[in-house]
Amino acid sequence: MGYETIIGLEVHAQLDTTSKMYCRCGTDYSNTKPNTHVCPVCLGMPGVLPTINKQAIEYTIMTALALNCTISDYTKFDRKNYPYPDLMKGYQISQYDAPIGYRGWLSIDTNGSEKRIGITRVHLEEDVAKLLHRTVNGKAYSLVDVNRSGVPLMEIVGDPDIGSAEEARQYLIKLRRILRYLGVSTANMEEGSFRCDANISIRPEGTKELMPKIEVKNMNSFKAVYRALEYEEERQRKTIFQGKKLTQETRGWVEDKGKTVSQRSKEFAHDYRYFPEPDLPPLLIEAKKIEEIRAKLPELPQARCDRFMSDYGLSEYDASLLTGSKAMADYFEDCLVTDDYRRLPRNKGVKQVSNWILGEVSRIINENSVDISRFGEKVAPSKLVELLVLNAEGVINTATAKSILEEMFESGRSAKEIMEDKGLSQISDSIQIEEIAVRIITANPRAVADYRSGKEQSLKFLVGQLMKETKGRANPNLAGDLLKKKLGEG
Ligand code: ZN
Ligand code: MN
Repeated sequence: MGYETIIGLEVHAQLDTTSKMYCRCGTDYSNTKPNTHVCPVCLGMPGVLPTINKQAIEYTIMTALALNCTISDYTKFDRKNYPYPDLMKGYQISQYDAPIGYRGWLSIDTNGSEKRIGITRVHLEEDVAKLLHRTVNGKAYSLVDVNRSGVPLMEIVGDPDIGSAEEARQYLIKLRRILRYLGVSTANMEEGSFRCDANISIRPEGTKELMPKIEVKNMNSFKAVYRALEYEEERQRKTIFQGKKLTQETRGWVEDKGKTVSQRSKEFAHDYRYFPEPDLPPLLIEAKKIEEIRAKLPELPQARCDRFMSDYGLSEYDASLLTGSKAMADYFEDCLVTDDYRRLPRNKGVKQVSNWILGEVSRIINENSVDISRFGEKVAPSKLVELLVLNAEGVINTATAKSILEEMFESGRSAKEIMEDKGLSQISDSIQIEEIAVRIITANPRAVADYRSGKEQSLKFLVGQLMKETKGRANPNLAGDLLKKKLGEG
């Protein structure tokens, strides 16, 4: 009998607010010393009073709406009690039975058809401090950096609707894209602002049998999530086929070994002893407020992708790449409203801009490990379009345009400046090209003889020689015509 895989993902995303969740400390501590963004509240001193970060509430409502959730009109905070050295108060102020958003969905593509993954809930809580483990002279000790303690953390719990590691990967990519479009989180997995835990189990296909749920933690990249789930799926199947029993437990992914290892079994499962946070009032969210926030939501990735296909006639592939990040989609659309854009050939402009962004621009971005925003600081959309116009009008050929773009990115100068500086404009002067053609013909008697004896291919070789001679600046069509003419004369 076949087994199917059931995966549910829990994502924690740090919210990109200026201040922390329950105090006024700043959240940007990336370039500061440890324990400098702290106060009695986030240090967990007794007797202090937390307050609620309004921005964090709005960001969470925005996210819940984007994930098609219902927003609670009544929400509250609860204490989740557990002792751990990175948890300053001994409890986390989280949400238990009245989360901000619930019962939503996110759709992914599986083999060309849409599949909805249910969203159980979206709630708000706070991050913990960071522990740093050191060993000096063989002695191990740990340090605590409290800067991260109290940073708003949004938890997005998904229904167990995911059926494979690939579906999990897609879900995470789509979710991250939404958070970034909304601007609520940097959602960077490597930096820890976007973290994922997974619950995975298998069961005989077509049954509702409940099998022990295994929680997998410590996955620090999309690739790690994918590998860990593939590994765990295989491990669970093997265990069953060998007639052994699976037990409910928490397992950690060990990246360099490529496997999960048991961390905690069910006997040690937490009892969090949740109870309502007595220092914070329940929060009533008015319908009017929800509609205000809904109206302010930016166009979401899927909608933008669909619009790129219908408005610009782009393929689904190109449209989804261009809308892969909001910054990329913005850059593309900014190109289309520049003054020079109208000088590109009619009906071809969109495709040209799209091709250049997905081709050369993406290549430069990848090779230099920068993002499109950084690229845009050097090469503004108007500058890219100016380059494309020079290419389209035949002032420079495509090879030259590509090398000019590299230099634009390095120096921030415009295509025209670089072109004039280096004398890179295309040679479209017949007399000049004819002169060079004569030289090429004299220097390559063999190819000339071949051509004249009917080998059409030799013309290509001669054009290549001419292009080389002019460092790619000759208008290739003109060069071909003139060479042909000269060869015919001889
Ligand atoms: Zn604080
Ligand atoms: Mn949590």
